[in-house]
Order: sequence, then structure tokens, then C-alpha cells
Amino acid sequence: MKDETQQQTILVVDDEPANIHALGSLLRDEYRVQVSNSGEKALAIVGDEKLPLPDLILLDIQMPGIDGYEVCRRLKEDPRTDGIAIIFVTARDAASDEELGLRLGAVDYISKPISPAIVRARVDTHMNLKRKTDMLERFALLDGLTGIHNRRYFDEQLEKEIARHLREEHPLSVIMMDIDHFKAFNDHYGHGAGDKCLQKVARVLTDTLSRPSDSLCRYGGEEFVALLPGSDAGGARVVADRLRTAVEALSLTHEYSSAGPVVTVSLGVATADPAGQQKADGASLLKRADEALYTAKKAGRNRVGP
Ligand code: GH3
Ligand code: MG
Ligand code: MG
Repeated sequence: MKDETQQQTILVVDDEPANIHALGSLLRDEYRVQVSNSGEKALAIVGDEKLPLPDLILLDIQMPGIDGYEVCRRLKEDPRTDGIAIIFVTARDAASDEELGLRLGAVDYISKPISPAIVRARVDTHMNLKRKTDMLERFALLDGLTGIHNRRYFDEQLEKEIARHLREEHPLSVIMMDIDHFKAFNDHYGHGAGDKCLQKVARVLTDTLSRPSDSLCRYGGEEFVALLPGSDAGGARVVADRLRTAVEALSLTHEYSSAGPVVTVSLGVATADPAGQQKADGASLLKRADEALYTAKKAGRNRVGP
């Protein structure tokens, strides 16, 4: 049995208790198994955001109510669930049935009566593939140099948080940060030292953000951006001051900066606040943060704008 936290999840959907039992006991030693005896319940389980999304669904086709094809169709329509691997397990063995199942987006099609060894082998194959796909997707959202999230992740999060901000009417703040005179740092200490500096700054910014809902990303070369759901303008300002102080306290020597003897950052804060009628879209929020950062640069760097 694997470590619980790494265990992948399979949802078995079948209206016959005997089939659920057979498939469940075949897979339970390796995978976390959820079961459902109808299409409706399967959709409810997958729709429950408190439960982990299954990695794979073994899906019966013929069931009273919502059938397997329809369950598959609905899951493939929803971006939240379209990554779940679906294997149809069914007594319907006409080639046209199999073709329809695969066209709906299923990864495989297994005929009943099942051969336990074959089911197990096919499930293992698809679970391995799923694990690799998940890993690649995670890497695609990370910055290679610093290990923190990248701009692509930020853009996804920003879109989600803006939607939540509009729905739940809570404030949302963004802090843009840019290292001061970093070109001069590279020119004098070398690109390798510049890279190490970026890693240290990324680390201290991450460690300084305290709420689990806050996220930090590398936005571009020497620019970072923090997204603070639930923080109003005052709160975000406090966080920005803390971030500025933390970078300065790293005390990384920078003899070629007009802002001080060590590496520093300038920061710009912008808030979308329903209370202040400052509801916003992502692009304008970022633009305001960028303008605030520019103000901080012009005012002498190593400070928070506006
Ligand atoms: P300012 O205070 O106005 O922000 O000046 P600056 O020199 O920091 O700004 P500028 O945009 O002119 O230069 C940014 C520099 O960041 C240029 C580039 O050499 C450096 N840089 C960007 N990405 C990386 C990276 O991945 N590694 C290293 N070592 N340097 C990088
Ligand atoms: Mg820059
Ligand atoms: Mg800079």
C-alpha cells in the first residue's frame, strides 16, 4: 500500500452491486476507491469540491437514469473535470458502442464479463500516464530558476480570483515587485550571481507571505507579483512593506545601486475593493499595480507605491 498522500483515486460507477464489489476489491490495495451506483451520484461526487477529484473513472454504460455516455459527456465539457481518465466497463460489445465511447473522450473500453488481470493491467497503465500528465502540468506552471510559480500560473489564478471577487464581493489586492538596478548587479557580479540573487529573493518573498491563499509568482526577469485574495488596500500595503523590508534584510551587497548598499525591491500595490466601488478586471488591476511600481521607482526605489 502506498503513502496515503500519493495515492491516486478511482471512482467505480455501476448499478450492479456485485460489479462494484468485484472492481473495488481488485483495486483497493493500490488505489483509493470511491463507488457510486448511479450516474447522478457519480456526478454529485465529482462535483463536490470538498472531495479529491478522481484520477480515473470506471464507468458502466447502461444504468437507469443518467447513463455512462451522458456522465462522460458532461465531465468532458467541464474544464474542472475534463482531465479525469474514463474507462467504460460494459456488457455492450458492439464496435459502434466502443467507437462512441472513445469518441466521447474515454481512454479505454473494457467488456464484461471482466478479466481481473486485464482490468488491473489497463488501469495501471492509464494511472501511470495520468501521473505523468499531472506532473508535466505542474511543471508547466513553475519557474525553472526559482521553483516558484510562473506567469502562466499567475494569469490562471488572477482570472479565478477576479471571478471570486465579483461573486463573493471580497477585496483582492495585487503587489508588483521589481528588483532595483538589477542590470547593474548582473553587469558587475555576473549572471550566475544574478541568478542566485533571484533565487534568494524568491525564497524570502515566499517565506514572508503568511496567508495560505496568498500566491507569489515570478512575473518576468526580475519582476515578481503577489496575489492577495481578501486583502484590502490597507492590508496589502502592510504586506508590501513587510516584503520590502525582508528583501533589504537579506543584505545582499549591491555596490552599484542608487537605492542603497544592498539589493532592494520597489513595489506597487493595487486593490479591487467592492466596498470602495473599485471592482475590477484583471488587466486593469495589473495596470494599476504597474503604475504604482513606476511611481515607487521614480520616487527613489526601495519603497512602496503609490
Ligand atoms: P530598475 O531599478 O529601473 O528596475 O533597473 P533594472 O536595471 O533592474 O531594470 P532593467 O529592466 O533595465 O534590467 C533588468 C535586468 O534583469 C536585465 C537582465 O539582465 C536582468 N535579468 C532578467 N532576467 C534575469 C535572469 O533570469 N537572470 C539574471 N541573472 N538576470 C536577469
Ligand atoms: Mg524590470
Ligand atoms: Mg529592475
